[in-house]
Amino acid sequence: MTLLVKGGTIVTASDRYKGDVFVDGERITTIGSSLSMPADRVIDAAGKYVLPGGIDVHTHLDMPFGGTTSADDFESGTIAAAHGGTTTVVDFAIQYKGQTLHHAWETWMKKAEGKAAIDYGFHMIVTELSDQVEQEMDALVREGVTSFKLFMAYPGVFMLDDASIFRALLRTADNGGTICMHAENGGVIDVLVKRALAQGKTAPKYHALTRPARAEAEATHRAIALAEMAGVPIYIVHLSAAEALEMVTEARDRGLPAYAETCPQYLFLSYDNYEEPGFDGAKYVMSPPLREKATQDRLWRGLAFNDLQAISTDHCPFCMNEQKTLGRDDFSKIPNGAPGIETRMSLVYDGGVRTGRISLNRFVELTSTSPAKIFGLFPRKGTIAPGSDADLVVFDAERTERLSVSTLHMKVDYNPYEGRTVTGVAETVISRGRVVVDKGKFTGRAGSGAFLKRSTR
Ligand SMILES: [Zn+2]
Repeated sequence: MTLLVKGGTIVTASDRYKGDVFVDGERITTIGSSLSMPADRVIDAAGKYVLPGGIDVHTHLDMPFGGTTSADDFESGTIAAAHGGTTTVVDFAIQYKGQTLHHAWETWMKKAEGKAAIDYGFHMIVTELSDQVEQEMDALVREGVTSFKLFMAYPGVFMLDDASIFRALLRTADNGGTICMHAENGGVIDVLVKRALAQGKTAPKYHALTRPARAEAEATHRAIALAEMAGVPIYIVHLSAAEALEMVTEARDRGLPAYAETCPQYLFLSYDNYEEPGFDGAKYVMSPPLREKATQDRLWRGLAFNDLQAISTDHCPFCMNEQKTLGRDDFSKIPNGAPGIETRMSLVYDGGVRTGRISLNRFVELTSTSPAKIFGLFPRKGTIAPGSDADLVVFDAERTERLSVSTLHMKVDYNPYEGRTVTGVAETVISRGRVVVDKGKFTGRAGSGAFLKRSTR
């Protein structure tokens, strides 16, 4: 099967030019102007951008949390991702206490197999560290699971102590893996949560009020310091607070390999959303929580000046009906997370590129190229080049859409951006040479996504 994407403006992290992209099988083989090779299918991209497929390195599909499971599985979640112009996800497998990492990996591979419509990889969440687990980390790196997520929050469930975190960091110095950190001071937060509940403060907004920005900044600082002492890079996930960004900026100014991602929810939503009437604040219960509106400008500046290197979603949807309501009388029982896998590219293009906060090239870099490089997928993914996978998005920068739960494809009963209009929409999406979204219609197949064996640093 050959494919010719003709007449579009090709955009990568560094270039922007008019050209044609020829795809043979799963890969890009030729790029040129006015290519005349015969192809099984020609896609007219005139007047549109041709972007490398989006890469979302932070999703939680089919994930058990707080007595329920995130609403999208690998089928509905990856189909929604494709609609939004994302062709690769890196999800999280979880080692529960008493389990081996291998068991966790097998469990999550089974969740994805036969279901994923786009390519996927896994980070491994380590919740218990022993000599045997450290050896398993090496084995997983060899299998292409080259990053590990650790938690400084959720004591008793996910949280690791500093000694374990330090040991895991040291291990990656030898095996070439990367540590991703959920940076919030879980001990402090637990005390604040218990105190709030004892005072009868049970509404959703107290989720945010018991997770101070300083608790994120402290943990971010500590994570970077531990990585500095271990002599390895570190990647901070879902950075939300300006105070935490200051810690990353300070470290980077000292030349340390500290990296961080933020997410659209921290760029477009704010603490004010928790003040919505009734129980609606629960829609936005996620960790870290939404911050004061003034933070948004700080995060955009961090993205523009490379103190933040990626925009992922932390897609972890729970329905308001029957899931979020588990915490109707106790905010600490509201499942943490919100949907976003489908809306990332449009939101960031509309709110970032169209407003002049970031360039078009930087948009591609933040949503595709840079995550591909950090997580061992580049240059197979993350750019448009001969030899790279044919993961392409024909992006209509002029089309406007109204975001609504009634038209989006994520399997959840609300959308945090309900009613917001965005200009800039993925029109046709190609995953390894297969057209998976054709002018807005899903034409792919569940199960055609492949597991991605990622390389080391
Ligand atoms: Zn997450």
